[in-house]
Amino acid sequence: MSENLIIALSKGRILKETLPLLEVAGIAPLEDVTSSRKLIFDTTKENIKMIILRATDVPSYVQYGAADIGVTGKDVLMEHGAEGLYEPLDLKIAKCRLMTAAKKGAVSPSGRIKVATKFVNLAKAYYAGQGIQTDIIKLYGAMELAPLLNLADEIVDIVDTGNTLKANGLEPREMIHADISTRLVVNRASMKIKHLEIQPIIDQLESAVK
Ligand code: AMP
Repeated sequence: MSENLIIALSKGRILKETLPLLEVAGIAPLEDVTSSRKLIFDTTKENIKMIILRATDVPSYVQYGAADIGVTGKDVLMEHGAEGLYEPLDLKIAKCRLMTAAKKGAVSPSGRIKVATKFVNLAKAYYAGQGIQTDIIKLYGAMELAPLLNLADEIVDIVDTGNTLKANGLEPREMIHADISTRLVVNRASMKIKHLEIQPIIDQLESAVK
C-alpha cells in the first residue's frame, strides 16, 4: 500500500501556477481550491492530500513533518532558514527579485537608517554585510507606504515588473537576491521514509517544468 502524503501549497499567485504543474504529475484537487473555504483537499490520488497555506507558513509545516512536500518562494525559504528541509527542485514560476527601494531621488541618511520589511532576517544580514546600521521595522504588507509616510527611509521587498514601486513614487536601489522563484521542498525524514512515493512526484514535476 502507498504511504499517505500531504502537499502544502502557497495561496495566491503561486497557487495558480503550481496547480497546472501538479496536474501534469497526475495530482489535482477534487474541488475548486480557490472558491472553497476548506483547508484540506482530497486529490485525484487517493493517498495524497493538499493543504493551502500562506506562503510564509509552508516551511514550518514541512520542517516539522506536518506536511511531506511544500511549494513556496525562495524568498520565504531564505527568510525562514532551511533546517529540516530538502530543496530538490526549482519550479521556475513566480520569478522575482529581492531589492531595497526608497523614495525617488531621496538621499538616505548617512548614519543609522530605518528599513521597513517583512524580510527581517534577510534585511538585517544584507545591511550588516554592507556595514550599514539599521532599525528594522517589521511590516506584514504594503511596504511601499512606509517611505511615503516617513515610517522608513528604505524598504526591502519583492520586485517583479517594478510597477508597484513606480506607482508609489519609489525607485529600486540595491539588488539583494536576483534569482527568486518558487521551489519544491521536502521534509528530510519523509524523503527517506516515503522515497517511493515522493521521488516519482519530483521526477514528474521536473519534466513538467522543462
Ligand atoms: P511588481 O509591481 O510587478 O514589481 O510587483 C511587486 C508587488 O507584487 C510587490 O508588492 C510584491 O510583494 C508582489 N510580488 C511580485 N512578485 C511576487 C512573487 N513572485 N511572490 C510574491 N510576491 C510578489
